[in-house]
Amino acid sequence: MKTSVRLLSLLTLFVILTGFVYAENIPDQGTASLQEGNSRYISGQTLKKGSGDEFRTELAKGQHPFAVIVACSDSRVAPEIIFDQDLGKIFVVRTAGNVVDPIALGSIEYAVEHLHAPLVVVLGHESCGAVKATIESKGEPEVNIGAIVKKIMPAVKRAKASLKEGEDLTYRSVVENVKGVAETIRKKSTIIAREMHEGKVKLIGAYYSISTGKVEAVALK
Ligand SMILES: [Zn+2]
Repeated sequence: MKTSVRLLSLLTLFVILTGFVYAENIPDQGTASLQEGNSRYISGQTLKKGSGDEFRTELAKGQHPFAVIVACSDSRVAPEIIFDQDLGKIFVVRTAGNVVDPIALGSIEYAVEHLHAPLVVVLGHESCGAVKATIESKGEPEVNIGAIVKKIMPAVKRAKASLKEGEDLTYRSVVENVKGVAETIRKKSTIIAREMHEGKVKLIGAYYSISTGKVEAVALK
């Protein structure tokens, strides 16, 4: 009896520990998969994508994306291509300037809470038109585009205030916007904040260079 109790405790401890390690590692595995995919994209050694009836039958059964990518709508920034990922692997939310509103936040929450995606990436990019438009904006822009400009404006102000000599304002603004969007996700989504606190989800920032193809990490703090 005693031995079985001890065995049971050991087994429980093992399950807790492995569960903990498992939860800790999943977001990092996701980051590694994205990095590997991006390297394949840069070198032109992309994987053959799934197709055919068998692949589609599997897809139709459900989705288990390992990451949510919050990206810009820019036609040069398709996450499935730059991270060389198959259908069903990444859950993508795209808006001009990769900004988030309640609908975008709800979409991220859906992927995190219901599909259990363990990684959220806010992806800014080189020569972002939405960021450039915000830098150049004067007066009151059109209502709907104005809503985007309004979301990016605080990042441009922070970029101007902290711009180092020789540094490009657009680049600095894109980076500040990535940080700002990540902060908005944390602050405006209790679901994501809770999942992050429990170690189930990791939120990271990234910058994509259109000219080199490379995606690099953006420190969020
Ligand atoms: Zn853009």
